[in-house]
Amino acid sequence: MRRAAPSAAPAPVADLHGRALFLDVDGTLLDIAARPDAIRVPAGLVTVLARLSDRLDGALALVSGRAIDELDSLFAPLQLPTAGLHGLEIRLPDGTRSSPAGEALAGPVRAEALAFAAGRPGVIVEDKRHTLAVHFRLAPDAEGAVDALARGWLATLGAGWEIQRGKAVVEIRPVGRDKGTALATLMRQAPFDGRVPLMVGDDLTDEHAFDMAATLGGHGVLVGHRQPSAARFRLPDPAAVRAWLADMAQPLQESRR
Ligand SMILES: [Mg+2]
Repeated sequence: MRRAAPSAAPAPVADLHGRALFLDVDGTLLDIAARPDAIRVPAGLVTVLARLSDRLDGALALVSGRAIDELDSLFAPLQLPTAGLHGLEIRLPDGTRSSPAGEALAGPVRAEALAFAAGRPGVIVEDKRHTLAVHFRLAPDAEGAVDALARGWLATLGAGWEIQRGKAVVEIRPVGRDKGTALATLMRQAPFDGRVPLMVGDDLTDEHAFDMAATLGGHGVLVGHRQPSAARFRLPDPAAVRAWLADMAQPLQESRR
């Protein structure tokens, strides 16, 4: 798969015909907060997403590392087709939900993570039951220790688990499903099927979906400046993503001025 520097040009605004849009949440739609539970949904964003979903005939999905229930509370009352936990759980366009693939994470891992964080101010454990994330945004010096901890879990848990690295976070999760497989699953369903997928995301976990979007004839839009990336286009930050989406959500006659 192509890995290069994404160009600065975002996708054309008025050309939504035949497109399907997949959006990561943290760092893409929403500004990253110091703590994962301190994330804020800006006023008007839910309305923009609802309008955009209408303009795409429903072919708009969220693809996030958060759990679907958590995304539903963040974006209430909107309930879009959604992939949660990096693709481990999926809600299809007809509302049916697949339960997370793989087993729940073993108790000792959870206990070890909490003990680790207890001794390190600023390290935050996010327990998502089937995955577990250790955040060190507030304790950047802990990065090496967090990495060693996660590698230890891989050795203990054995095959079937992998490490997902992100921005100031390391997450342990079951292998087999990622944001790319989630995008492919949704693309097999109406109204996504037969459309050209566009995936917008900011982090390493989104690269799986950039790859899959390209495989299915579409492309990725990277938020930020990370290189290399499988994305073809880029936008500088979540504020630029929100402005771009708001522009596309305008009624047709206004956006084609
Ligand atoms: Mg993100």
